[in-house]
Amino acid sequence: KANQRLDRFVASMTPYSRTDVKNLIKQSVVFVNGAPAKKANQTVNVENDVVEVDGQVIAYEPFVYIILHKPDGVISATEDNRWETVIDLLDEETVLTYEPFPVGRLDKDTTGLLLITNDGQFNHDLMSPRKHVDKEYAVLVDGVLNDSHIQKFAKGLNIGQGDITKPAELFIDEVDAEKGESFARVVISEGKYHQVKRMFEAIDCEVLQLHRQRIGQLVLPEELEAGEYVQVDGDALRKAI
Ligand code: URA
Repeated sequence: KANQRLDRFVASMTPYSRTDVKNLIKQSVVFVNGAPAKKANQTVNVENDVVEVDGQVIAYEPFVYIILHKPDGVISATEDNRWETVIDLLDEETVLTYEPFPVGRLDKDTTGLLLITNDGQFNHDLMSPRKHVDKEYAVLVDGVLNDSHIQKFAKGLNIGQGDITKPAELFIDEVDAEKGESFARVVISEGKYHQVKRMFEAIDCEVLQLHRQRIGQLVLPEELEAGEYVQVDGDALRKAI
């Protein structure tokens, strides 16, 4: 949106909070087109107006890129009248300024790495079926995995509805034969609907927990707890994926 509230614009482009910005306006260090700003809620055209704080021009960055550690129980959508969405987890400033949306989807009960942006081209490039970016998931399954499953994943599986999966890697990390459960990692290069769950269904295992830990070279940062997110640079992100 080209027209934005001054305090919101400055708060979203700088580490300042909106309260900080209000105070800076009172201290007469915020300027719009060379004149001291008077009101926090005045409208600025972020593409044309020159906004300065303490003599520094605030650069307008139209796109935002966010890495979210998606928690269990929220849905990958921008709005929903029943469930909390991944966008509800972001601060209001970011949502109002950028109107971001999730890049692809994780199921409601899937956790882990989810990208959020308002850059349509970036979203399109990443979601294109021609772009085969590896996605790595950690899974807990009801079932005892063995080497024959690794081979089946490598060959491609018929997961129903006419869908045959491309070769995928399965790494078996831990098998609890007594409980009949296994921890594993799967690397897939596609993103068919409920793909990982359907792949395990095809070998008669139920997925109990699913967590995405990597997209391309981008690993979910360890310090991000479920529900936390970090804003990152677009160019760096493109290089990582
Ligand atoms: N595969 C699934 O089945 N669910 C997800 O959320 C992601 C991949």
